[in-house]
Amino acid sequence: MEPKKRRPTRTIYVGNVPVGGDHPVVVQSMTNTDTRDVKATVAQIKRLEEVGCEIIRVAVPDEEAARAISAIKKEIHIPLIADIHFDWRLAIAALEAGADALRINPGNIKGLENVKKIVLAARERGAAIRIGVNAGSLEKDLYRKYGGATAEALVESALRHLDFIVGDLGFENLKVSLKSSHVWTTIEAYRLFAQKSDFPLHLGVTEAGGLIAGTVKSAFALGLLLSEGIGDTIRVSLTRDPEEEVHVAYEILRTVGLRTRGPEIISCPTCGRCEIDLFPIAAEVEKFARTIDRPLKLAVMGCVVNGPGEAREADVGLAGGRGVGIIFRKGKIVKKVPEEEILTSFFAEVKRLLAETA
Ligand code: SF4
Repeated sequence: MEPKKRRPTRTIYVGNVPVGGDHPVVVQSMTNTDTRDVKATVAQIKRLEEVGCEIIRVAVPDEEAARAISAIKKEIHIPLIADIHFDWRLAIAALEAGADALRINPGNIKGLENVKKIVLAARERGAAIRIGVNAGSLEKDLYRKYGGATAEALVESALRHLDFIVGDLGFENLKVSLKSSHVWTTIEAYRLFAQKSDFPLHLGVTEAGGLIAGTVKSAFALGLLLSEGIGDTIRVSLTRDPEEEVHVAYEILRTVGLRTRGPEIISCPTCGRCEIDLFPIAAEVEKFARTIDRPLKLAVMGCVVNGPGEAREADVGLAGGRGVGIIFRKGKIVKKVPEEEILTSFFAEVKRLLAETA
């Protein structure tokens, strides 16, 4: 079974990155450094670029952070989105400093006049805007009308903002997100919005949690929506290093069948047959795999009884024996080495395969 065909949307541009239409679902993340600390922020963005982050968002809590964007932009290669709350002047300052896009929640910008100032400045500079509707800052009248921050209320809020920004101001370089920390409300809101508008959607579950909870919630909500053809760019939020967000995002896209980046690792959970210390070996393989951007299948198996057979699909694999390691390709054993050489031999075999197929 394949994911449903992508929902047809218009294409917008965040810097030079197209979002929506037939373009691949774009992976983004957000820095957790102090934006005013240019050196630390640039270093983190560069690490994120290396693992495949395609758009980066930075928090802009004050004027100094907005000004720092200009120095940050000189050092990085991916488009930058300035995350703005409350103060329209910060949005203008971020645009003047070269931000490629803004993320605003018009509901907390305090008045349509201020939203208008932001939109006109973005248009003048060719920047994009994400309208981020958030359950936590829903308009009071919608809260009353729907008896809470329901999916319908979130969608009506987004459509109201679009009416003003698109209808009255004629600005269309827009994408939308609809977030609630309640996963089903988020899913329903995106589904509903997708039926009513063709603007591209930024998917995310807000305040998703730590590595395990955040990964599960995001994989469930984003995976479900993406499998229904909904979603044009994704951010997995984790209370973790943002590099992990990018790795998880690509695993979700791989699992749904939309994009592959880097190797897929098949590894066994180990059982009573395992005679080597497999967990640290698997961790090293995972680290090594992150340095490769070509799609490959790598297997890490605890024993030779079932290992190579179970992982027949793998391009290169390793399996443990008593004091030895077996290296195999496509289910066929190519080498037997002492246990302490298993990783170096495995890495050498993968590199050989990459060189042969370059
Ligand atoms: S590969 Fe071997 S060690 Fe791993 S789960 Fe299967 S039987 Fe157990």
